[in-house]
Amino acid sequence: MALLVMKFGGSSVTDASAMRRVAQRVAASHRCGNKVAVVVSAMGDTTDDLLDLANQIAPGPKPAREMDMLLSAGERISMALLAIAIQELGVPAKSYTGAQAGMRTDTSHGRARLLDVQPGRVRSTLDEGTVAIVAGFQGISTGDDITTLGRGGSDTTAVALAAALDADVCEIYTDVDGLYTADPRIVHNARQITRITIEETLEMAAHGAKILHLRAVEYARRFTVPLHVRSSFSDREGTHILVGRPLTEDTMEEPIISGVTHDTSLGKVTAVGIPDVPGAAASVIGAVAQAGVSIDMIVQNISTSDARTSDISFTIPEAEGPDAVAAVRALQATMGFDDVLYTSHIGKLSLVGAGMRSNPSVAAKLFESLASAGVNIEMISTSEIRISVICDQADVENAVRVVHTAFGLDAEEEAVVYGGTGR
Ligand code: ASP
Ligand code: MG
Repeated sequence: MALLVMKFGGSSVTDASAMRRVAQRVAASHRCGNKVAVVVSAMGDTTDDLLDLANQIAPGPKPAREMDMLLSAGERISMALLAIAIQELGVPAKSYTGAQAGMRTDTSHGRARLLDVQPGRVRSTLDEGTVAIVAGFQGISTGDDITTLGRGGSDTTAVALAAALDADVCEIYTDVDGLYTADPRIVHNARQITRITIEETLEMAAHGAKILHLRAVEYARRFTVPLHVRSSFSDREGTHILVGRPLTEDTMEEPIISGVTHDTSLGKVTAVGIPDVPGAAASVIGAVAQAGVSIDMIVQNISTSDARTSDISFTIPEAEGPDAVAAVRALQATMGFDDVLYTSHIGKLSLVGAGMRSNPSVAAKLFESLASAGVNIEMISTSEIRISVICDQADVENAVRVVHTAFGLDAEEEAVVYGGTGR
């Protein structure tokens, strides 16, 4: 007998029949003798629809407290319907809001962080043999107001609940069969990954893979929650994400490259002609960080040997471009640099694999394959288990396909995409 957390994303519960299908799965797991806690997202596009509705009423900024009240309703609808569907199958089930499930957060509406998880009611429900269903993406703040965890936050709810319950595994059900070596919507013969380390999963999630929410993966690593990503539309085994296990001989046998991810939502800021003195980078990057912009890749180069100036370029989410440019511009006069340039439509391709740690030929092969495809590399950054390149957004999809093939990742069969969103 195991204690499981099963998480179903919005694309797994789009309508009544999908809800019944999910209920069957939950009931089957319960009948096997497992204690089952379920975390569910809002049905289909409900969250977007609620946002649209609010925008029609107030096009400008809206009261954050009320927005959280509104958006948290999507998950409440799902949890109640799922509880009804499970009971209809003769299995006892009870639903709980995030607050009832003990999800205590800070007070930042719309992007609240979990501070404490006390799932006492969920635990006693499981102990009495009842399925507990918890609304994803929400909690209650230290000021007793309803909060939401940010878009895609139900993954984090699931992992946090699994950690607090000391669950054997957190199963993430989605609309594809697991993690893939590339986005199957772009690389049709992407290969499904059977098992992967949490470190690689973290790099993939941080660099564009959309299947798991980055915060949830970070949480899983921190609290060593084993994750199992699989489809709610098939019985395939899916992907097991290994946590708290150093690379051993048997995991070393895994392929050198685990996957190719991409991101097409970036912009690039360049401060041109910065005096080459200590503290220059600290001022520029510090100002951007101060403006609340998340910086991804940073490159500094000496523009000419005698001018004693350098350029600093960094990439950011495209949506945060204007804030980043404003923050750097504000420094221009005092620091005395020449110009601030901004490019939108920046793309990024990342190659991730624990096996590349000891394999220097990986970078060379990556650059060769990009060159053969005529892709111009603008920036490069690496970690121990990742190489990322920045290129034109228009080149990214082709680059992903070329690199995927070059590293021998193409599968024989086509990947199946059951739904539309990858959540
Ligand atoms: N329903 C929320 C969203 O669409 C949370 C989630 O799906 O994880 O962002
Ligand atoms: Mg959703």
